[in-house]
Amino acid sequence: MTRSTPTVSPGELDRLRAAVGDVCDPELPPLTLVDLGILRSVEADADGTVVVTVTPTYSGCPAVEYIEAEIARVLDAEGCARFRVERSFTPAWSTDRMTEDGRRKLLELGIAPPGAGPVPISIGRRPAAAAAPLVCPRCGSTATEEISRFGSTACKALYRCTSCAEPFDHFKAI
Ligand SMILES: [Zn+2]
Repeated sequence: MTRSTPTVSPGELDRLRAAVGDVCDPELPPLTLVDLGILRSVEADADGTVVVTVTPTYSGCPAVEYIEAEIARVLDAEGCARFRVERSFTPAWSTDRMTEDGRRKLLELGIAPPGAGPVPISIGRRPAAAAAPLVCPRCGSTATEEISRFGSTACKALYRCTSCAEPFDHFKAI
């Protein structure tokens, strides 16, 4: 007697992928896992277990555990009984994985998106210092200066606009 293997239909996977993709990052609530490029894949393995693969932005980012708990909660709410969440660090996450929607939402939050303005490409994993000014997300001025390499979270640097005098976060390019 052969044991029937539970299967997950492509339509079901699409539905789960959309639901998981809408999970928001706890540090940047309007930005979803898809916006940030954190969600890598939602697939079914041979046993019919749904495998969600994420690439966290930083391996030490405390948001990762929250995100994984949220994914589990969403899958549970979608009636998905068998699933697991895996982390994949190869290739490593980089700000290049962020979508255009994600960059736009950052700007709407008053955060200068990575790569915006004439900021040099980071060398290796070390964010390059701002040798060229960023564009202020509030007034568009390029008269900006770095105040601190670390902003409200480790992912961001704190800048100040000398035109409108407002401080703003810059999501560092990595
Ligand atoms: Zn400004």
